[in-house]
Amino acid sequence: MYDYDLFVIGAGSGGVRASRIASSLGAKVAVAEEYRVGGTCVIRGCVPKKLMVYASHFAEDFHLAEGFGWNLGERSFNWQAFIAKKAAEIDRLNGLYLQTLGNAGVEVFEERATVHDQHTVKVGDKIISAKKILVAVGGTPYLPSLPGIEHAISSNEVFHLKDQPKRLLVVGAGYIGVEFAGVFNGLGSNVTLAYRGDKVLRGFDEELRDRLTHEMTQKGIKFLFENNPTKIEKTDTGLLVHFDNAEQQEFDQVLFSTGRSPNTNGLGLENAGVELNNDGSIPVDDYSQTNVESIFAVGDVTDRVPLTPVAIKEGHAFALTEFSSQKVSPQHDNVASAVFSQPPIASVGLTEDEAKEHYDEVAVYKSDFKPMKHTLGGSEERALTKLLVDVKTDKVIGAHMIGLDAAEIIQGVAIAVKNGLTKAQFDATVAIHPSSAEEFVLMPTPKYVLTKD
Ligand code: NDP
Repeated sequence: MYDYDLFVIGAGSGGVRASRIASSLGAKVAVAEEYRVGGTCVIRGCVPKKLMVYASHFAEDFHLAEGFGWNLGERSFNWQAFIAKKAAEIDRLNGLYLQTLGNAGVEVFEERATVHDQHTVKVGDKIISAKKILVAVGGTPYLPSLPGIEHAISSNEVFHLKDQPKRLLVVGAGYIGVEFAGVFNGLGSNVTLAYRGDKVLRGFDEELRDRLTHEMTQKGIKFLFENNPTKIEKTDTGLLVHFDNAEQQEFDQVLFSTGRSPNTNGLGLENAGVELNNDGSIPVDDYSQTNVESIFAVGDVTDRVPLTPVAIKEGHAFALTEFSSQKVSPQHDNVASAVFSQPPIASVGLTEDEAKEHYDEVAVYKSDFKPMKHTLGGSEERALTKLLVDVKTDKVIGAHMIGLDAAEIIQGVAIAVKNGLTKAQFDATVAIHPSSAEEFVLMPTPKYVLTKD
């Protein structure tokens, strides 16, 4: 009676996973994508960003290598060559995603779809019916309105710049701001980061925030704290930026990384009676269902945790719940995340401020050390590991790290935290020596104990 059992709008991480799993469970599935199959993460987010982080980090690695006796001679970076190689890799992944969907028997519409009513979508001129509709359209960069904002770029454009900016202003000090400030600084651009607050990465562990601010400064990034652009003017030689404090400075590019908004504008959700939050995100229940029985939503378009692996879990859980006999709710507790800043940060569980709200006594274990690679390498960069432990139960409730390989290390620690292991169980684990990760099982005494607010 319907054209499809499931019509998915958006072929990003969440939409692709949901389509593929639903199809493998016997559903007739179609997915529509208005830009490129793969979505933000693969096409213009996590993946190309991480390639840029690798490209950028070589500058420091070459320097470290000299400390180990290497003589490397003259080095130079070719932006155009890198951008072309990166683009080819993204094309390859886009092809793989299309192939995966094809192999799974999912029909792909490479055009924009909107919601027409509770069981139909509009794709171009076609009206297509589906028993269930999944909205997985993600988000889009949010740029505040100020005179000249049209001269600025967002993370959508930063991957395709024809030339590497010599002078870059980054606005905002969240995930994207600190990551790109690090990338361009490593590649040799002169980077300034303007932020309305007083240290980077609001919401992260305070000590890690201080440490990252310090390390980024040491690496040559200039910070304009408690300062925001008020106007951008195009001149013959660049972009003249006026700031809150009445100062002006010229840059070649201005990158706004001031958050992302859900992509619900013009999506037609009101035609079906789907309720939205004030910020445009879609509220859903534990099974990703909206207030309309036949319409579901996963990923950054919802008001949950805006991270790719979370969207994938939500898409998978949705498909199992709706197209198999299992009822699965994606879990949003103890989600580990990493910021690919330089040095990187990774965390799982509660920060000190959050822990104090929920627990009577929290013991904080810490290790602050110079990674071995930096001893001969000659870098002053240090690493910091932290564990937060509920004194009453001995359960580890938070783990945080800044330093080399933090993301790789915290992924393993996250398994222990997610499964409620105790500090005694961490301590009973034999260390891998010499490594930075071993610090997580070698912190015998707490540095201090926090008490409830
Ligand atoms: P974030 O929300 O992380 O940071 C936004 C930054 O911009 C904050 O510093 C914020 O300040 C500031 N800001 C917000 N609005 C304004 C404004 N009107 N004027 C000036 N400054 C403003 O967003 P991002 O854009 O960095 O990243 C978007 C999302 O993408 C992240 O939330 C994350 O989920 C995801 N992401 C994840 C990555 C990863 O997992 N490694 C990498 C990149 C992105 P304040 O702190 O004061 O609010």
